[in-house]
Amino acid sequence: MKLCMVGTGYVGLVSGTCFAETGNDVVCADIDAAKIERLERGEIPLFEPGLGELVARNVTDKRLAFSADVAAAIAASEVVMIAVGTPPRSDGASDLQAVDRVAETVAANAARETVLVLKSTVPVGTNARVRRIVKDARHPVHVVSNPEFLKEGNAIDDFMKPDRIIVGCDGDDELGRDVMTRLYHPVTLSRERFIFMDPASAELSKYVANTMLAMRISFMNEIAALCEKVGADIHLVRKGVGSDERIGPKFLYAGPGFGGSCFRKDIVSLVHTARDAGVELELAAATDRVNQRQKGVLVRKLKQVHFDGDLRGKRVAVWGVAFKPRTDDVRDSPALTLIDALLSEGAEVRAHDPEALANARALYGSRVTFADDAYEAATGADALVLVTEWRQYQNPDFARLHGLMRRPLLLDGRNIWSGYGLRKQGFTYDGIGVRGS
Ligand code: NAD
Repeated sequence: MKLCMVGTGYVGLVSGTCFAETGNDVVCADIDAAKIERLERGEIPLFEPGLGELVARNVTDKRLAFSADVAAAIAASEVVMIAVGTPPRSDGASDLQAVDRVAETVAANAARETVLVLKSTVPVGTNARVRRIVKDARHPVHVVSNPEFLKEGNAIDDFMKPDRIIVGCDGDDELGRDVMTRLYHPVTLSRERFIFMDPASAELSKYVANTMLAMRISFMNEIAALCEKVGADIHLVRKGVGSDERIGPKFLYAGPGFGGSCFRKDIVSLVHTARDAGVELELAAATDRVNQRQKGVLVRKLKQVHFDGDLRGKRVAVWGVAFKPRTDDVRDSPALTLIDALLSEGAEVRAHDPEALANARALYGSRVTFADDAYEAATGADALVLVTEWRQYQNPDFARLHGLMRRPLLLDGRNIWSGYGLRKQGFTYDGIGVRGS
């Protein structure tokens, strides 16, 4: 099938490449001409495990190409997928300008009957809004909602083996349904994954999923704060709670607050949509408030618990800037909240991340020292704060760290070192709701 993926970011590049891998003829188009040039030179503009090899193979096999001419790429396709950004406006609503613009380009350039698929996360009613934009196109345009659920860091696997494929289209849209069934057929051979529904329910499902995941994290972060006050340990509480089959073990980890470009944006957009509809989503709104507060937990602990209210001149090593492991994405990362606060408190920051240093450098320039080696970042530090649980941070050489640091204070934002007996090794150890040892 001839497919044009409009928006070549984390979602568009991964899913466009995976559709090429499953035999389609794909053009990934983007208005960012510099990004397209890099891709054409064989560079991958983002870090996602396995993506480089997959892109290279499909380019070599001529199933995957890149274009900054979005209109021409649309005109040459039977299926157009929209994977552009939908960032939050200042009032919390999703900014749909990029989606509208692509829909207008489809309306003006579709050269045959076209299936237009909304992969971006868009509020309820966007499918209907896009239909209005394309209704006067020269050829019929079938608008289908297909929210994307892939997770950065595991995106290719998530695409190839999704938990579910939600397709929102009209019951009588045979072409839309048929095209989606064919496109995803290769990843549904091992088991049925399709859930067909109306567009509004499909649109809402994505927001509810993200908000519910975020809600679990925020609730556990609140309980972690309670654990610290009453002498309980969040690890044990998590195990005790997560072993209930009705609850399950995932997304119950306390930490420095959730980050990334999606959770907060989607929560505030859902709250906004609901308010417009006359419904107050109190739990969702509270989830965001709790998380905003939680993102300050690391600097609060440093300042109030460990440095007597004064961080001026303290050298703080930060391990992990990406919002989670296996990605270079720093958008809305709790590490940024920490670094911003440390800088405004007059501390010196030395940061390390296995993949996200270029993105972090673009934000901070020379205000932060970026080290290519994790131990180098910790040298002479008054505290080491672990923010992102990259595998390589799981079991460092603590004796070496002890020798390198000016003051052996470890603040473990992900509780990955809590069982290591670090106090016996001469460290001051602190985590999020854990007793530690
Ligand atoms: P991104 O910022 O990485 O990529 C968006 C791309 O769209 C950019 O390359 C940008 O240049 C391009 N673009 C913007 N306007 C354009 C236009 N008019 N025409 C062509 N290209 C245009 O964004 P992302 O993280 O890939 O997210 C895209 C959408 O998918 C969002 O709605 C997001 O909420 C949703 N989503 C993201 C993830 C994720 O993990 N990142 C997961 C599921 C869903």
